[in-house]
This record gives sequence, C-alpha cells and structure tokens, in this order.
Amino acid sequence: MDLNRKLAILADAAKYDASCASSGTHKRDSVGGRGIGSTEGAGICHSYAPDGRCISLLKILLTNYCVYDCLYCINRVSSNVDRARFRIDEVVQLTLDFYRRNCIEGLFLSSGIIRSPDYTMERVVEVARVLREEHDFRGYIHLKTIPEASEELLARAGRYADRLSINVELPTSESLRVLAPEKDGQAIRRSMARLRIHIDDAKAAATPTVATSQPRVAPKRARAPRFAPAGQSTQMIVGADASDDRSILTTSATLYGAYRLKRVYYSAFSPIPDAARGLPLAAPPLVREHRLYQADWLMRFYGFAHDEIVGASDGMLALDIDPKLAWALAHREKFPVDLNRAPREMLLRVPGLGVTSVKRLLDTRRIRTLRVDDLSRLKVPLKNVLPFITVPGAARNGLDDANLAARLRPQPRQLSLFDLPVGHG
Ligand code: SF4
Repeated sequence: MDLNRKLAILADAAKYDASCASSGTHKRDSVGGRGIGSTEGAGICHSYAPDGRCISLLKILLTNYCVYDCLYCINRVSSNVDRARFRIDEVVQLTLDFYRRNCIEGLFLSSGIIRSPDYTMERVVEVARVLREEHDFRGYIHLKTIPEASEELLARAGRYADRLSINVELPTSESLRVLAPEKDGQAIRRSMARLRIHIDDAKAAATPTVATSQPRVAPKRARAPRFAPAGQSTQMIVGADASDDRSILTTSATLYGAYRLKRVYYSAFSPIPDAARGLPLAAPPLVREHRLYQADWLMRFYGFAHDEIVGASDGMLALDIDPKLAWALAHREKFPVDLNRAPREMLLRVPGLGVTSVKRLLDTRRIRTLRVDDLSRLKVPLKNVLPFITVPGAARNGLDDANLAARLRPQPRQLSLFDLPVGHG
C-alpha cells in the first residue's frame, strides 16, 4: 500500500480523537541552525489551543488495526474498515516533510493496539525517540499512551513527548465495562497516577530550592529531567452511554483533582458504520459538548464546584443558555453584587464578566470608584451584566423580572452564506 493511501486511512481514523490541543509546553525553537522544528508559531491549522491559539499537528494513528473491540470505536477488531499500518520511519519522514513544508507544528500520534499494549507502545515511543534524538526535532509531540503498557515505557514516552494523554473513554466504570470490555479502568487510573508522579518529580527537580543562607558561589544544579512538560490530558466520549452531565462533570472533577490533568476533552459520540446494538443511533446535540466545555471552564477558572453547576433535576446542563447564566438565574438571592465592593470570587460569578474583565475591574477600583461607563470602556456586555450588579450610574435592571431568562437567552439567528466561521476550543 503506498504512503498516500496509508496517510488517508490513518489520518481519517485519528479524527475521532479530540484531545490534541498543543498548549502549555516549554518554548523551543531551532534558531541558529540548531535542530529542526519549533513549539511556537503557526502553520496550517487543524486545532485550537485552550488559549485560542491556532495550532497545527500531523494527527495520525500508527495503525488502525486493533485487537480490542470497544463498541463505540470505528477501529475495533470487528469493524469492517480498510486497515493500514505505518512503519516507524514512515511516520518520522512524514513529520519532518510536513514540518519542512510549514504544514504542521508538531505530531499527535495514537494507535490501535497491535499484538499487545507493550508491543504497540514501544513503537509509538520509538517514533518520538527517533524524531528527538536522531533528527533533533524540537516541535511539539503529543503521544497517546496505552494505559496497560509497562511503567518503563510510560517513563520513556514522557522523556520525548510534550504532552501525554490517556483516554478515560467513558464517564463511569460501568459504561467502560459494557462498551469497552477489554479496557481496564483501574489500569487507566493507575497509569494516570504514574504520569502525575513523573510530572511532579520533573517539576520539583526543575524548581530551585530557596537558600537559607547566601553562599558565595551558587551550587551547580544538574539539569532537571524532562517529562511531558505540557502535562497530561484525557478524553471522554459524550452520548455513547446514558451518563448525564452531572456524572460527566463529577468524573472530570475527580480527574483534575486526583491526577492534576491539564485538560479533559469532551468528544460527542459519532455514530459509526456497523455500530453495535445498544449504541445510540444519533449523535448527541453538539451544543451539549459545548456546554460541557463551558462548565469545565467554570470549574477550572471561575471557582465553581462541579456539584453546583448542574442544577436541573434531570442532571443535564441547559442547552439554551450557558451554565454560568443558568446558575445566576437559579441563585438570584446572591445578586445584585456591588461592583465596587464584591470579592473577586463573586465578580467571577456575574454573567458576562470574564476572568480578564474582572481583573481589569479590580485594578481600576483600587484607584477610584467604578462607574457604569467603565463597563462600556472594558467592552463588557451591559445587557447581560446590569441585572446582576449595582454600580453608580446604572439603573436597577429587572433582576426579579419573570422574563429575565427570556431576555438574556441568545436569540436564534438565521445563518447567512456569508457568516465567517468562529473559532472553537
Ligand atoms: S483500544 Fe482504542 S483503537 Fe482499539 S478498539 Fe478500543 S478505542 Fe478503538
């Protein structure tokens, strides 16, 4: 099979994995003729980092053969799809060629499981080793880790990769048992814990210790061992099982807390050809995935606990309004907040105020009293914010109105042929 055909099959097979945004790694480049590649800059873009930066990765599988039979996966052993497998040198060459043509900034490599987890993981790690050690490749590398692989292989993967990820796959161990019977939920969490220890150790070794006295000559410190500087992430499939949003967010909160993951990616289940019975026939609404990302953002940056975000009794996030607005409408007794006196934590809960605008408001009110004009200057959406705050110059704005939710709900809009696409996370 020629390389182009392999590329078509194995790039297509990788598209179901959402967890490949390249954020948070160390800056490296090849300025001065040292090595090849860079973790900065942009080429042809396929993905968006959480900070909104557009990044491009060659996103492929080493192979779409797999000895496992996860029911939701197009690459499962019982699936009737074209199969292909790259050699290690082919992946290395493709990465270098695409990089030199300025098509990519790095590589995202995953794989079906061939023969055994160790056999597969060895090959995935070898691709990264050859790129780093033999070609001095300094671009971004994200390796998908096979949880059942040996600890030694996980440790080697972290030496070459910027980011490692292990897919938790499904929100509950019961769903994993039913839909991915060969996967071992315990092994997934064990491997996440191992990665966390390696990442913490590398960070601790890189952090200078504070001297208690002033030595005349600073002691030489050995260079800290490198281990996945962009941390670890995971992906959860949404809508393949009956888990509600509350249990999805509970699982995410546990993963963030226990393993300090950088990101949990939510991937709406897409129905696959020859799907197993018991799987839904239709994909969940894409807006559900979007609301989960918004709720995830609230947990990580806005101080919300996972168990206060989903208020409805059915355990699902509202689809028609964002989760922060839904929370504020359900907790009107906590508003309005005084923009000049409220603590940061409460300002972050005001619909329409983001982390950056809250910082600017706090900076401004340190020197003078905030007025309503300051909100316009900071481009804060007044219609959303005013019902929930008090600030000199603003009239009271109907916090108790029965139709407040209807007023603030985004109006449906007919798409135009000439609408520009907006970025996504
Ligand atoms: S192990 Fe991965 S590639 Fe194999 S069937 Fe399961 S999800 Fe698909």
